[in-house]
Amino acid sequence: MESKRQWIYEKIAHPQKYQDLPHPPGKELVSGESALYLGRQYRIEVIKTGLVQIQFAQRFFIPATRGKKRKEALRKWYIGKAREKIIPRAESRAHELGVPVSGIKIVDNRFRWGSCTLKNNVNFNWRLIKAPMFVIDYVIVHELAHLIEANHTPRFWNIIRAQAPTMEKAKAWLKEHGQLLEQEI
Ligand SMILES: [Zn+2]
Repeated sequence: MESKRQWIYEKIAHPQKYQDLPHPPGKELVSGESALYLGRQYRIEVIKTGLVQIQFAQRFFIPATRGKKRKEALRKWYIGKAREKIIPRAESRAHELGVPVSGIKIVDNRFRWGSCTLKNNVNFNWRLIKAPMFVIDYVIVHELAHLIEANHTPRFWNIIRAQAPTMEKAKAWLKEHGQLLEQEI
């Protein structure tokens, strides 16, 4: 049974992952550009003096560090927000589902939005924090449901449908906009 489960996990093709397309040319992290957060674009203001960390208040205020450092700072900000928003949400959804989750992590995984392990750990791609909450919620429920049902069976999709009523909308959003989440800003 254990080896069969392993095989099933390895064969799971996560349908929430979009088709890999070549990236369009990246935006520059300068004033007047915008960056995604929870499904919305917010204007960027690069601040030349007096700001040490990124601040967010319906706009991104970003210290004017040189070159790659500015993008690295934004990446770290996203990872921090992903931990702050996604982990507690996943904990409460796990509790509602009665799923014995042993650990929830935010990871840098370019190939999946979420994943789960045989030891009941679930991982979420930090880039999800750029997506709307209903999309994040769907990915959370999707991974947690795998701890109940390993494969994408009708029983699996019934669990998702009951727990994430906006499943179809979320899947469509990821298919259409997934590529946006991969861009640096
Ligand atoms: Zn799956």
